[in-house]
Amino acid sequence: MEAIRASQEIIITTHRSPDGDALGSSLALYHFLRRQGKRTRVIVPNPFPHFLRWMEGSNEVEVYEYNPPAGQRILTSADLIFCLDFNLFKRAEPMALPLEESPAKKVLIDHHPFPGEGFDITISHPEIASTCELLFRFLKQAGAYPNLTKAEAECIYCGMMTDTGGFTFNSSDPEIYEIISLLLRKGIDKDEIYANVFHNYSESRFRLLGFMLSQRMEIYPELHSALLYLSREDQAQFVFNKGDTEGFANFPLSIKGIIFSTFIREEDGLVKLSFRSRQSFPSNEFAAEFFNGGGHLNAAGGEFYGSFEEALELYAQGLKQYEEKIKKAFNPF
Ligand code: 5GP
Ligand code: MN
Repeated sequence: MEAIRASQEIIITTHRSPDGDALGSSLALYHFLRRQGKRTRVIVPNPFPHFLRWMEGSNEVEVYEYNPPAGQRILTSADLIFCLDFNLFKRAEPMALPLEESPAKKVLIDHHPFPGEGFDITISHPEIASTCELLFRFLKQAGAYPNLTKAEAECIYCGMMTDTGGFTFNSSDPEIYEIISLLLRKGIDKDEIYANVFHNYSESRFRLLGFMLSQRMEIYPELHSALLYLSREDQAQFVFNKGDTEGFANFPLSIKGIIFSTFIREEDGLVKLSFRSRQSFPSNEFAAEFFNGGGHLNAAGGEFYGSFEEALELYAQGLKQYEEKIKKAFNPF
């Protein structure tokens, strides 16, 4: 709060491919700071999916990738930069370097394990399910709850909801529901927020999902694992919108006995991987060991610079190496 008081030009930023928690926390803080009379902007590395467009302020968000020189100027001229929902500068590519090099004071508010260096203030709580929840706790402690607006409550609820899969995982802390109750008192409609995010997909997403589940899924029952994969050629057969594959990695976890799911997707010049797990299997460890990635215990991601086939090969090797660990983590009940 001291840092906010002392600053005039405040920038809020978040990780690449912003999700509900990233954008929700950024916009909630944006509205809050503007109410304090601060000149504030949100700048994100690349575009966010259309199912987050309903959030108030989302049309004021600046996208670094659209105009890097302008983004660099914004980052350089700020007094204070909030870094929300990521732990390392490299998660903000392609604006990692200008962000890191900006002379502004940097405040990290995040819930990923292993916060990196380079922040002036680090508020890191990996035990908290979402950055939105963490931000709410921070604002409430600072006495900001009574004046919290409905729009701010909606943004916060959105991130709490998306980072827990609609409160289906990582969501057994009773305090989460005390916070939801406080947010509902601000007049938010939680069912509408759910529908805005989860009932807002395109037809093409469903066609692609159907194709993938029937043609591009491998199940390894003894390893309690599943693999989903889509090449660029596969994706080209469908009308493809950004964000259409969001959440695909979760589907195989609904299969009895599967506790580790991997989704490998070929992009332009790189291969993107999403990992999801249940129980104690550390998907972030797997992501870090083989795919230069990281994340949470049960939801992680990584990247691979090489061919799609090489990425599949490396995954197969990794799975073999983790055989014992997966079997040990599997709990049939
Ligand atoms: P998703 O699979 O939804 O893209 O990402 C799930 C989680 O994995 C994210 O919340 C983030 O914590 C982490 N993650 C995704 N991609 C990367 C990556 O390339 N590097 C690292 N370190 N973490 C990632
Ligand atoms: Mn998050």
